[in-house]
Amino acid sequence: MKKKVTILGATGSIGKSAADVILSALERFDVQVVTANTNAELLAEQAIKLKAKRAVIVDETKYDTLKSKLDGTGIEIAAGEQALEEAASEPADLILAGIVGIAGLKPIMKAIEQGSCVAIANKEPLVAAGPLVMAAAKKHGTTLLPVDSEHNAVFQVFDFERSDGIEKITLTASGGPFLNRSLEDMANVTPDQAVAHPNWSMGRKISVDSATMMNKALEIIEAHYLFNIEPDKIDVLIHPQSVIHSMVHYKDGSVLAQMGASDMRTPIANVLAWPERMETPGQKLDLTQMNKLTFEKPDFERFPALKTAYQCLESGLHSCVALNAANEVAVEAFLTNNIGFLDIMDCIDHILGKTKTTKLDTITDIIEFDETIRAKTKDFITNGVTKKAAQSS
Ligand code: NAD
Ligand code: MG
Repeated sequence: MKKKVTILGATGSIGKSAADVILSALERFDVQVVTANTNAELLAEQAIKLKAKRAVIVDETKYDTLKSKLDGTGIEIAAGEQALEEAASEPADLILAGIVGIAGLKPIMKAIEQGSCVAIANKEPLVAAGPLVMAAAKKHGTTLLPVDSEHNAVFQVFDFERSDGIEKITLTASGGPFLNRSLEDMANVTPDQAVAHPNWSMGRKISVDSATMMNKALEIIEAHYLFNIEPDKIDVLIHPQSVIHSMVHYKDGSVLAQMGASDMRTPIANVLAWPERMETPGQKLDLTQMNKLTFEKPDFERFPALKTAYQCLESGLHSCVALNAANEVAVEAFLTNNIGFLDIMDCIDHILGKTKTTKLDTITDIIEFDETIRAKTKDFITNGVTKKAAQSS
């Protein structure tokens, strides 16, 4: 029987890798829906190649383009946010959540409600709404499969049946493009330099997150919720070659690690075929080609985001929502040349310093709070950061 699969965010870096894996084994998969935000041309192309039943574009102004490209193919089309949520609610054996940012939260919740498998690459909803996402998965009997390479690695070597034997987990981090840069140097880096990751080719937002190491910060929070593991049992280790994707340490001293090439098609193939295994069209690891594997402790001074993640987990969900929202806004401001690289953390620190505990019992509470924080961050960027830059010039 073919596995029915839906890809949310099909036109992104994760979505394209998933399409590649599925295309290499079309006999195993029956693609239901593919979705995108604005890129109607690529979405139409993917829908045709993947033989999808439906293509959904969120940006309604792109409906006509999508329609003309798919005319006569028999592929259904729809546009708008509502159509995206419906796509996520459509029955499937596996829904791959590959949207970037908090925009993926509602679709993930819809996908979870149907009780099959949801493969999550889209980490921001887990950071901002981890307890609600995990509770919904439990309630609906939905299996969550981690796609993020570190969490997929942990998932593959984590003894869920006997988790009391686990001492801690270590998330590895490449350290990003500025691993060896001084803070003075980092003050002047450009968006193009920040998105040029040494090992991974990814979307722009996560690439900037890797450069600030906010990506690893978000991943600490993601791991806390996905594996129900206390923050003091989550370590981060810099491993610039990205060969060991993460590890689980057991009480008896055994350390189980997962290795692979730095190619997202491996964790994606892992979740697509789970619990089976499949071939991937991706690179395979060849250790004879690796000169050496190195490891070092992260520098919390140059990469303060890591410390912030632990503080946010300690402080509560409101801080995690604020961290994510302020980061999304600040990264966008950096990418559009409105603030400098180091201002990203400045904005986040400023916002977190002003964030107070608030009731976050529902997804609506979280989305409203996220929007408040976004507005505050934008305001700070317009009136605070630029003012600071003006004063210093
Ligand atoms: P990307 O920017 O390349 O792609 C994002 C996708 O989401 C696109 O298909 C886009 O159309 C869609 N999208 C964007 N905004 C949307 C909105 N408002 N509503 C609906 N759809 C929207 O991003 P990416 O690099 O593929 O990352 C996707 C997610 O996976 C992120 O959360 C990222 O942190 C996570 N992730 C990515 C990688 C990677 O290698 N790229 C690795 C691990 C985790
Ligand atoms: Mg990762």
